Amino acid sequence: MEKVRVRFAPSPTGPLHIGGVRTALYNYLFAKQNHGACILRIEDTDRHRFVEGAEEYITESFKWLGITFDEGVHLGGKFAPYKQSERKEIYQQYIQQLIESGWAYYAFDTAEELEAKRKEYESEKKNFQYDMTTRYGMTNSLSLSEEEVKSRMDMPYVVRFKMPEDREIVIQDLIRGEVRILSNLLDDKVLYKSDGLPTYHLANIVDDHLMEITHVIRGEEWLPSAPLHVMLYEAFGWQAPQFAHLPLLLKPDGNGKLSKRDGDRLGFPVFPLDWQNPETGEFSKGYRENGYLPEAVLNFLALLGWNPGTTEELLSMDELIALFSIKRISKSDAKFDIEKARWFNHQYIQKKDNHELALIFEKMLVALSIQVALPKIEQAVALVKERLHLLTDFPEQSLFLFVTPEEYDTQVVKKKWKEDTPIHLTEIQKIITNITPFDKTVAHDAVMNYITSNELNTGQIMNCLRLSLVGAAKGPDLFEIVGFLGKEESCNRISRAITLLS
Ligand code: GLU
Repeated sequence: MEKVRVRFAPSPTGPLHIGGVRTALYNYLFAKQNHGACILRIEDTDRHRFVEGAEEYITESFKWLGITFDEGVHLGGKFAPYKQSERKEIYQQYIQQLIESGWAYYAFDTAEELEAKRKEYESEKKNFQYDMTTRYGMTNSLSLSEEEVKSRMDMPYVVRFKMPEDREIVIQDLIRGEVRILSNLLDDKVLYKSDGLPTYHLANIVDDHLMEITHVIRGEEWLPSAPLHVMLYEAFGWQAPQFAHLPLLLKPDGNGKLSKRDGDRLGFPVFPLDWQNPETGEFSKGYRENGYLPEAVLNFLALLGWNPGTTEELLSMDELIALFSIKRISKSDAKFDIEKARWFNHQYIQKKDNHELALIFEKMLVALSIQVALPKIEQAVALVKERLHLLTDFPEQSLFLFVTPEEYDTQVVKKKWKEDTPIHLTEIQKIITNITPFDKTVAHDAVMNYITSNELNTGQIMNCLRLSLVGAAKGPDLFEIVGFLGKEESCNRISRAITLLS
């Protein structure tokens, strides 16, 4: 079998959508599984839609996610350059070839003329399409004489594909099976624009051919372009790669494609990293900054539209590579489920080494002007880890371990703090002070002993002890907290609470 070569070919028109990340991931898994190559190509021939910084955003996203490419922008390779705007000259000869072989033609219609045509059709309640039925009535090298064409060659023009008539175009899709469409329904797409750059369609086909791409794995939104692409391969006399059009990622309720607006509305990111549009200033949040681990994002995305055929959901990159199969990609669109993403993230946080997590959390604490020694942070991680769904939950879940409470939850105070509470807490404080060497289990047993021998309400006393140490009715096991804080700090906090609340 020839070597598998796939590509991810984003256009730098904004931040990389999470659906694009999934497309890249499937390409990556497929390449790795088949010991092939995965290429990163930037398709930037549409200069109107170009957005500053988008390309850097794309490469940084993959760096964070741990998806690596074998060839591509910033990496080079046998078929460099991998950015289409740097391949301008390459496309010229191919457009020429299509014109000479009669598969394409020059069109001189101005924007105003096209608009007028559209209006004319609209007034008759019809849709204008530049196609086999209209092309001979337009201003192009099919309708004009050779002389007229020559005389117009220094004016702006485009090159259009001459879609053949009466053809049934067949696309063999690895996910959808056979897709058929009649060529008569298709328009004569622009292949080359007056700015001297090819359109997506031409550049994409020429590059896929020259870069020896064997499989085109891309989003379903490109399926309508596939018939033209198949015809372009025929026009060039090239063998087409195999196609696999991936199902869409839908909004959580299943009503339409997942968009940035859904993310904003429902409070979850739809982009891998934070992004600020340099032109509009509009801000979009990212998975990284929202406290997701890249391995969780990848695992979650892998299962949106593909299933491994087992019940195991937690799959490492190596397992994903081993299990991946295009056959198991679903035809139907996948609903986005942020709760599931959080679940995966929780699982991956649990798997992660405490020391590694402590290094991440140290930065968060420093940002809050809290300086704590790394081993102590690691100890805190062990205490609160199971409560973390997002890495960014850490400060909220652990702050009281590092900072003495300034305030106490008034609801809890009202419900639990009784007149005799200070007396009992003072006794408990004494008990804790007298344990030498200090030990949390001994402290637990001694305090429990005090409660039972005085026939006190365990819940109420424990709640007040927690309130003194934490400031609220939350946190991990109380004596784990006592152990973390140590004898002195625990006793100081009890005194402080007694003074402030009595
Ligand atoms: N440049 C296209 C995009 O932005 C690539 C589509 C394809 O993979 O053919 O998604």
